[in-house]
Amino acid sequence: MSQSPHMSIASAIVDSVNNSDNNHSAKNTNEQLRATIGKVVCVGRNYAAHARELGNEVPTSPMLFMKPASSVVSMRDGIVRPNPEQFGETHYEAELCIQLSADLSAATIEQAKQAIGGVTLGLDLTLRELQSKLKEKGHPWERAKCFDGACVLGDWLDPQAFADFKNVHYQLTINDELKQDGDSALMLFPVYELLVNISHAFSLQAGDVIMTGTPSGVGVLQAGDALMLKLGAHQWQTHVA
Ligand code: ZN
Repeated sequence: MSQSPHMSIASAIVDSVNNSDNNHSAKNTNEQLRATIGKVVCVGRNYAAHARELGNEVPTSPMLFMKPASSVVSMRDGIVRPNPEQFGETHYEAELCIQLSADLSAATIEQAKQAIGGVTLGLDLTLRELQSKLKEKGHPWERAKCFDGACVLGDWLDPQAFADFKNVHYQLTINDELKQDGDSALMLFPVYELLVNISHAFSLQAGDVIMTGTPSGVGVLQAGDALMLKLGAHQWQTHVA
């Protein structure tokens, strides 16, 4: 019985979300998903090509921001954008996401490796025009990054399948056109180093999600867009309302 209580909580969460096909209810799925998450920590500009496409400098330490658990929705339930007339364009950012199964504070690489409980793809949805205005003023980004539905997550997969996260390849296709092609080998700050770095800035807790940053190719979501996200042999389909 060496399994930690956190590990068993995380396993139960993975099972409950993955087995929700029977008698599926969007409300229950999202409530279960959110109930597991304390905070979502996002990494900005973790791929040099994406930093450059938005005219940003390539950072020398991870640039962090957060989304609240209330922004999380399951990819199974589709994407609902804030009203474009009121809030402007919503951009997609496909990202490799990690869920922790143990707490991490000032962690070592080995502790970070042991704390990964689930892996999936997610969409860090961003009100880009609003974000640009906030950036110009030097204001925080919450209004552009934290709205309900702003963190879209796939089903959690077993981390054993992602040996050391060295060459994890993933893709986002929209309406059959390849938009983003990500490879963890191109991360400026790789997965374990990220977890260590974040855990030295503030504590991470079991259930917390890390969105590890987006590769280049971000763009605008339009009503009716059909999205396909692929991670190895796994794929998810979702659409924009
Ligand atoms: Zn992002």
